[in-house]
Amino acid sequence: MNQISQKLKKIIDHYSQFVISSHQNVDGDGLGSALSLHFLLQSQGKKSTVVYDGNIPYFYQFLPGIDEISSWEDFSRNLDAFPQTVFWVLDCSNPARLGGVERLLPNCSLVVNLDHHPDNSHFGDINLVCPQIPASSLLVYQLIKDLEVALNREMATNILTGIITDTGGFQFFELDQKLIGIIDELVGAGASMSTIMRHAFHYRSVQALKLLGRALENLWFDSQLKYTIIHLSQEDFLACQAKEEDAEGIVDYGLFIPGAEITVFFKEVKPKNFKVSLRSRGKINVLPVAHQFGGGGHLKAAGFKISGSYPEVNKKVIAFLKEFLAHPQDDKETLEEDARRSIESL
Ligand code: 5GP
Ligand code: MN
Repeated sequence: MNQISQKLKKIIDHYSQFVISSHQNVDGDGLGSALSLHFLLQSQGKKSTVVYDGNIPYFYQFLPGIDEISSWEDFSRNLDAFPQTVFWVLDCSNPARLGGVERLLPNCSLVVNLDHHPDNSHFGDINLVCPQIPASSLLVYQLIKDLEVALNREMATNILTGIITDTGGFQFFELDQKLIGIIDELVGAGASMSTIMRHAFHYRSVQALKLLGRALENLWFDSQLKYTIIHLSQEDFLACQAKEEDAEGIVDYGLFIPGAEITVFFKEVKPKNFKVSLRSRGKINVLPVAHQFGGGGHLKAAGFKISGSYPEVNKKVIAFLKEFLAHPQDDKETLEEDARRSIESL
């Protein structure tokens, strides 16, 4: 067992009460890693509560344990009921991304930060940050193995959901023999690959499909600089009676185009407030673009928030992107170096 797993084992043995959370705008890996850890702790006879500040998209309702998640609103009424608590933060690069749940940080006994974002701020008392692995849920898988806990269907389904969603159904991460071996074990424990694939990618409301139609109508491709822009305005959301969760997955269409290397997806979530998603195929690292606008993420999938009218926001972001594409990327090596150091420290 490696050093970190030994420490985590001691923590699990020593404490009896645990709270788990993940980042806002939660995705399959945020939920999958949090819920698999929840089942691991419960299997050890511990009291575990998963708390989340935000709306959980309907297409994740199939996940085992999803109904046990407490809303921050309910949880925060009873903060005194959680003395001597270990707070586990999963798949979340910095505390600000927790929303209201960030308030737990100064009030708990210990913070454990498990993540795979290269720009994680190491805010925990214990930090296990592994940028090379495709999903944070694999850290929970590793812990289950190290602790020699029996993998059950609930844990396996949540872990596999993290892997499938963060790899875009194995498009963004080369499926190697090691990962196939892990998936084999997860399927053996009862996870259903087809159920997860269907819910993650092919289970969307009428409103979501109408929204996709509008997004594709608005799509614009620069064949010279090889980037795609997708834009959804408030008007689009209203016309389709769609919610923010209905835009999940739309960004990926920008990379369907032969030759497209980068996609920028502008999503107007409130009037003049945009969430911007960046995706890259090939060598280009989009993280510096997200950092430029105060966001973060991964080398090939990142995002940020920006306010202003669409023409203003578009102008700022695309001007920076063009400048960025015209110059070699200085910090790529640093990021890869950081990533190597983190995995070696495992
Ligand atoms: P998405 O585009 O799907 O919202 O996010 C892609 C990746 O970027 C995810 O890993 C997500 O956590 C990260 N990300 C998205 N928006 C933000 C942001 O505003 N701040 C930070 N730090 N990361 C973000
Ligand atoms: Mn993740």
